[in-house]
Amino acid sequence: MKRKGKLIIVSGPSGVGKSTLIEETMKMRDDLCFSTSVTTRSPRPGEVDGEDYFFITPSRFAEMAENNELLEHATYVGNSYGTPRAYVEEKQADGWNVVLDIEVQGAAQVKEKEPDAVSVFVVSPSLEELEKRLTGRGTESPEKIRERLERAREEYKQAHKYQYIIVNGDLHAAAEELSAIITASHCLYEDRKNYLN
Ligand code: 5GP
Repeated sequence: MKRKGKLIIVSGPSGVGKSTLIEETMKMRDDLCFSTSVTTRSPRPGEVDGEDYFFITPSRFAEMAENNELLEHATYVGNSYGTPRAYVEEKQADGWNVVLDIEVQGAAQVKEKEPDAVSVFVVSPSLEELEKRLTGRGTESPEKIRERLERAREEYKQAHKYQYIIVNGDLHAAAEELSAIITASHCLYEDRKNYLN
């Protein structure tokens, strides 16, 4: 039987560079796949439906939640986000490590259902740096940026619930760390104890 893949939860405030970090780590490894979420948020310029997110209507979202098609779901700055369950389960059963880029409420739901999920919280070198990145992205209104920074401060207070912290200053170094965390998660006693028989 194939070894079941791990769930790798990656959280951290909006604008901290989670997507880029995940992409960079995926280039380094051939055992990682990304779970594309559903969201009711409108696409940003350059975002591709089915790649960055599946962009769906609020009524379709409610239907998926109702039918238990979502592994977890949460509201973030006025929009709904969720992880489609079927993809994650299939990939894990096939031995893939599945990366979830989700916020803290969703992460707590996943940990509850799958306690051996690996949890990583990504921070920027400073909150000033984060504000610069959010402003530089140029895709959010000043009001939305303010809300997202406010939310970032709230999220930092939840970081103690995570096993690992990555400071996303140098992208390559941060990706090396994420990759090392994934490798280490497969060396845990629980995962290796069958070698002791
Ligand atoms: P953004 O709108 O900037 O793409 O994402 C906003 C926040 O929603 C980010 O913190 C991101 O990690 C989170 N997010 C994206 N997809 C999901 C999801 O499926 N579930 C949950 N709970 N959060 C998500």
